[in-house]
Amino acid sequence: MGIRQWLRGLLCPAPSAPPWITAPAPGGPCQHITFINHSTQVTPAQFQACVAVLQVQVDRDFAPVWGVYATVDALPGGWPISILDASDVPGALGYHDVDPTGTPFGRVFVETSQLQSVSWQSVASHELLELLADPFVFGAAPGPGGTFWALEVGDPVEDVRYTINGIEVSDFATPAWFSGIPSAGPFDAQHAVQAAHQITFGGYASVFQNGAWAQIPGGRLNVDAAYQRHRP
Ligand SMILES: [Zn+2]
Repeated sequence: MGIRQWLRGLLCPAPSAPPWITAPAPGGPCQHITFINHSTQVTPAQFQACVAVLQVQVDRDFAPVWGVYATVDALPGGWPISILDASDVPGALGYHDVDPTGTPFGRVFVETSQLQSVSWQSVASHELLELLADPFVFGAAPGPGGTFWALEVGDPVEDVRYTINGIEVSDFATPAWFSGIPSAGPFDAQHAVQAAHQITFGGYASVFQNGAWAQIPGGRLNVDAAYQRHRP
């Protein structure tokens, strides 16, 4: 452990990964995410329970796979993710973006999610993980035929969820999903897809091809704007 690792250890406590996961030593970036509850629908207890579960998801499931660690809490100073009632983008359950000062942020819309029978906690998880994987919303991985696949880890499997301590969280794609290198996977945390660039029935992917971004849907004929990313 060099001085930099030691300093990082002070700033970023070791994740509480269970022993069966061979997590890499925390050496990747460590972020701080500040959740803020502005929703009239979410009690302080529900809010705290969700934030605690999201920390578990990052430590146990996300960080060992993506190498991005994060402290997830309600203390000021981190990149903010706000829990709000109604969406400010028509139909969007949540999104993440970068503000004019260059700070990544996320928004989660509780009432809008409820209207589509999606738990706000799973939307919070979706936006959190996408923000951690590509905070500045410029990541894209090269794919076949000159394509580039936006580094949005929640979208390809956005209809797949699982629970931690009884709270629903979002599945997410792994680096193998984005890599063109043949691999045995897993391609998502819940093993919902079996190959790179495979999309679940309710998922989608944003792909740059022929000079423009397009959305590739999963099994659905129409991709709604349930989850929006502010990429042109
Ligand atoms: Zn998304």
